[in-house]
Amino acid sequence: MPQISVSGVTVNVVRKDIKNLHLGVYPPEGRVRVAAPLRVNDEAVRLAVISKLAWIRRQQNRFQSQERQSAREYVFRESHYYFGQRYLLNIIEHKGPAQVVVRNHTSIDLYVPKGADISKREQILIAWYRKELKALIPPMIEKWEKIIDVKVADWGVRKMKTKWGSCNIGARRIWLNLELAKKPVQCLEYIIVHEMLHLLERHHNDRFIELMDRFMPQWKLYRDELNRSPLCHETWKY
Ligand SMILES: [Zn+2]
Repeated sequence: MPQISVSGVTVNVVRKDIKNLHLGVYPPEGRVRVAAPLRVNDEAVRLAVISKLAWIRRQQNRFQSQERQSAREYVFRESHYYFGQRYLLNIIEHKGPAQVVVRNHTSIDLYVPKGADISKREQILIAWYRKELKALIPPMIEKWEKIIDVKVADWGVRKMKTKWGSCNIGARRIWLNLELAKKPVQCLEYIIVHEMLHLLERHHNDRFIELMDRFMPQWKLYRDELNRSPLCHETWKY
């Protein structure tokens, strides 16, 4: 990928058949990427980056401090998020099957086999997040299929580094980021609606925004909530 350097910041530049220039800063280390329309030259890209330099540095600093915070150890009283709410972890070693139980408004019990290490504990919690998220998705898709009048053929949950969701329009399949299990439920619903609306409009254009405004007038609130998270990058505008 072609790179340019602007005031010590390395920028990957991709040229695409798009209308507007997109600038993104990506976790975990704060990589900078610009997607530029074909007709925009390197000098114009450089100027765009310069005008956003302060913002880029802020994002990079934030990722780096989040990176430090986010090395989870799955130990007693460590914070973990579940549908927008913060809980403290309680580790219980036992002989039975691995299990996760939301005990009350403030704590989650993680039942693990004796001697389970960090990666085993993490695996148990992630499997639980996946199961919990997957349980919420079908009724939401069904609800919005009726409202929007489109059909989703298939859906799935996976870990994604830079996106909250994606839509394969040809296959009518939507993918949702596993991290949504940590966000308020309304954010999950917003991403589902966003991806489903791509079945009506492929691009993030005026028509797409009109559709978002019509079906979910408060969508910007949820977008802002998600943009406060580590996955944030400037191109998640809609
Ligand atoms: Zn989209």
